[in-house]
Amino acid sequence: MEHIYIQKGFKTPLAGMPDFSIIQLPDPGTIAVSAMDIPYIRPKLLVKENDLVKTGTPLFCDKRNKYIRYVSPGTGIVKHILFGKRRRLREVVIQLDKIDDFIQFETVPLQILDSTPKSELIRLLQKGGLWQCFRQFPSKDTANENHEPPMIIVSLNGNDLYSPHPQVILKNNIQNFEFGMALLNQFSNRIIVTSRKSSLDELDKLNGLTHHITHIVPDFFPAWDPGVVLHKLKTCQEENRSWCISAEHLIWIAKLLLTGKYPIKKVVTVTRSNDKKPHIIARQGSPIKDLMGGRDDKSLVTTGYFNGRSAQTTSHIGFFETTLNSIKDNQEEEMFGFIRPGFNKPTVSKSFLSCLIREPKELDCNIHGEERACINCGYCTKICPVDLMPNFIMKALSSDDIEDALSFGLLDCCKCGLCSYTCPSKIELTKILTHGMNTHYKDKE
Ligand code: SF4
Ligand code: SF4
Repeated sequence: MEHIYIQKGFKTPLAGMPDFSIIQLPDPGTIAVSAMDIPYIRPKLLVKENDLVKTGTPLFCDKRNKYIRYVSPGTGIVKHILFGKRRRLREVVIQLDKIDDFIQFETVPLQILDSTPKSELIRLLQKGGLWQCFRQFPSKDTANENHEPPMIIVSLNGNDLYSPHPQVILKNNIQNFEFGMALLNQFSNRIIVTSRKSSLDELDKLNGLTHHITHIVPDFFPAWDPGVVLHKLKTCQEENRSWCISAEHLIWIAKLLLTGKYPIKKVVTVTRSNDKKPHIIARQGSPIKDLMGGRDDKSLVTTGYFNGRSAQTTSHIGFFETTLNSIKDNQEEEMFGFIRPGFNKPTVSKSFLSCLIREPKELDCNIHGEERACINCGYCTKICPVDLMPNFIMKALSSDDIEDALSFGLLDCCKCGLCSYTCPSKIELTKILTHGMNTHYKDKE
């Protein structure tokens, strides 16, 4: 195992860390497959309201490649099809039956995995609704099946500060993980498996798994993000088109190929202060309100501390989402806040005395006023884990100079959200950079 040295990131300890308790949530009344958390997809509906669907029935595909399907994680009736702005598909909501009727896909036993052609594996994964688990850099779009990736990065720690612990995901799934690793060898000669330093002790208890880990990353966010890992490991231009996949998705793929049945359960963490913080095993696409189990009205639910969406309780958890964070939505002005010592305030810039105290702090959503002009303080540059200068890129994009933005490394941005968080002028840098990246890709299509 090698250590990857990463200096920049969010190092302030936070309250709300999920514990190791596991709750198996009963099946909800409705589930949904959301098209909103799937980057770059151009969805084409394959069902209509009141259609009966089995577990594994395709609900929509990607117009850019109609073989890439998004399938139903449950059996029932299509209750609603919801659209957002410009009639963009938002969610396909399914009223669940009591018993699952699975579509039986073809299987690939471990004994014949090596001799199964790669094209056949791709076909099976696309048909079974899991090809999109493979994401391709630099944009983390769905992997291009015609491309041979120079490297595949498997992240054991998800993509959020408090993503599910790998021990919870891998426990009882070691054989599936082994199968997944054998499958990856069909696609690339270089497989990188990363783990947070603090996860190693628990992973050691799962026999015979740690030998797969190739690299250890520090414990601060987002050191385990595949985009940051790639930034540190890449040695040539070609490696910018590597792939990545999460450990849980690798397990889903193994389950699909070994049993021929679409995997319906996922692990989700719920983080909040002053309440239980369990890992939840729930059906894919479960309603946010069921996962949160009651909610404080003064809190905002997000699917990522720094880079998730703000989730309505009426919506459902997405394919790539694994965390729900309850963050205090406090926009009140603080009297003489600027002269208070701020013992409990999380601070990156060391403006408050809390920087001397290592006790976990609590984040809230207060932006202390409106968006202001850039003051060239450089905090965004100091925290960016992939060594970008987000303020320069933002200014290039504001003057429509995409060439300049690209030359400043726009495509290396892993959308971690830290620059927006740390900016004292509250400029939505991540949003601006993500928009710039999306526009660049749309123009290229
Ligand atoms: S530019 Fe911002 S969002 Fe992108 S990697 Fe750097 S800190 Fe994260
Ligand atoms: S942190 Fe905000 S104000 Fe400071 S340089 Fe970056 S964009 Fe400008």
